[in-house]
Amino acid sequence: MRAEIVAVGTELLLGQNVDTNSGWIAQRLAESGIDCTHQVRVGDNVDRIADTLRIALSRADAAILTGGLGPTQDDLTREAIAKVAGVQLERDPDVMADIEAIFARRSRHMTESNRRQADVPVGATVIAQRLGTAPGLICPVGDQVVYALPGVPEEMKEMVVRAVLPDLRARSGETAVIASRVLRTWGLGESGLAELVAPRVDALEGGPPGAPTIAFLASGMEGIKVRVTVKTPDAASATAALDREEAALRELIGEGVFGTDEETMEQVVGELLTDRGLRLGLAESFTGGLIAARIVGVPGASRWFTGSVVAYDASVKRHILGVPDGPVVSAQAAVAMADGACRALGTDVALSTTGVAGPDPEEGLAPGTCFAGIALPGRTTEAVTLRLLGNRLQIREIATITALDTLRRRLLKLG
Ligand code: ATP
Ligand code: MG
Repeated sequence: MRAEIVAVGTELLLGQNVDTNSGWIAQRLAESGIDCTHQVRVGDNVDRIADTLRIALSRADAAILTGGLGPTQDDLTREAIAKVAGVQLERDPDVMADIEAIFARRSRHMTESNRRQADVPVGATVIAQRLGTAPGLICPVGDQVVYALPGVPEEMKEMVVRAVLPDLRARSGETAVIASRVLRTWGLGESGLAELVAPRVDALEGGPPGAPTIAFLASGMEGIKVRVTVKTPDAASATAALDREEAALRELIGEGVFGTDEETMEQVVGELLTDRGLRLGLAESFTGGLIAARIVGVPGASRWFTGSVVAYDASVKRHILGVPDGPVVSAQAAVAMADGACRALGTDVALSTTGVAGPDPEEGLAPGTCFAGIALPGRTTEAVTLRLLGNRLQIREIATITALDTLRRRLLKLG
C-alpha cells in the first residue's frame, strides 16, 4: 500500500507557515506499515490542486490531503477532489446540522461561507468534526481513495488516528498491529544510553525477522527517548511484547528511565510523593518559578504541592528562608533554602535551586554552576552541584528538570 501526502495552502509555498503536518502524517504511516512515496505542497488553486491529486493517484493507492477545508473562497480542496473524481459537490444536510450546532454552542454567528464546509463530493464518507468546524472526507476514486483533512494540526491529527489510519489499514488488508512505547530518560547522554541498551539492540538485531526494534530520539528539554516498536498479530500480543521489552530495557537503564510515553517528570514526581503521602514545597532562586509552573501544569497537583518561594534577592533568601551569612550561590545556601521552604510552606519535602544562569559569572562561579537542595523526612538535607551548559534560558530549563529528576531519584531511594 502506497500513500502520497499533499499539503494544500499558498502560505506553505510562501514559507509563512512550515508544513509540519506532512512529517507527522508520514510518521504515522510508517508506524502502520504503509509506504509514503511522495510528499508535495501546492497552493490554493483549484486546477493545481486537481493536477497534483491526479499525479498522486497515478503513482500511489491513496492520497492524503491536508488544508483547504476552511470556509473561505481560497479553501478549494473539496472542489478539486470533486473534479478529479468526476462527481458533483452536494450540501450534506447532516453535516450542515452539525456545523449549525457547533456555531450555536459557541454562540457565534454563522455566515453563508461556513455552509460551504457542508459540501461533500458525491460518494464520499464524512469524518465527523470533533475539534473544529470542517469535517474530513474519505472519497473513493475508482479503487483508490482520497482523504481530505483540515490544515489545523490538532484537528488533522485527531482525524488521522481516528479515521484515516484504520481505513488505510482495512484497505491494505493489513491486520498486524504495529505499536510503540517510549521510555523517557533523563541524566544520561546519548552515547551513555546507547551503551547501556546495546546488549538488547544486538540481541534483537540478531533475532528472527519481525523482532521488536529500538530507536533513540533526542528531544532537548524532554530528555532522550528510547522507542520500542513491535509488530504482532493482535493488540493483546502487542501489549505483552511491549511490556516484555520495557522490562528488559528498564533492567539495563535502571533509574535513568523516569516515565513512559507522554508522562512528564513532574507527573512522576507527583505520583511518588502521593504514594508516600508527602507534600512538596519549593524555594527557587534562578529558576524563578519555572519548577512551580511545571508542577501546577499537572492536574491535581494541589494534593502534593503547597507552593514556591521565589527567593531571588539575597535578602529574601535570608529573611524568608533563613539562609545564614555567606555566599547565596552555594551548597550551604541550597540546603538552608530547602530547610527554610519546609518551615515556610509547612512541608516535609522541599526542593531548592540557587545558581548562576549567566551570561556572566557571579561570585566567582561560571554560568551554569547550580545547586539543588533536597529536604526529605528523616534525612539530613543535602545539596547536589550541577554544572550545566547553554544560554541563560537553557540553563534555567535544564536546571528545572534536573532538580526534579534529583528529587525523583531520592524519593525512589526513600522506598
Ligand atoms: P479549517 O478546516 O480549520 O478551516 P483548513 O482546512 O482551511 O482549516 P487551512 O486554512 O489551510 O486549513 O490552515 C489552517 C491553519 O492550519 C493554518 O493557518 C496553519 O497554521 C495550519 N496549517 C495548515 N496547513 C498546515 C501544514 N501543512 N502544516 C502545519 N500547519 C498547517
Ligand atoms: Mg486555508
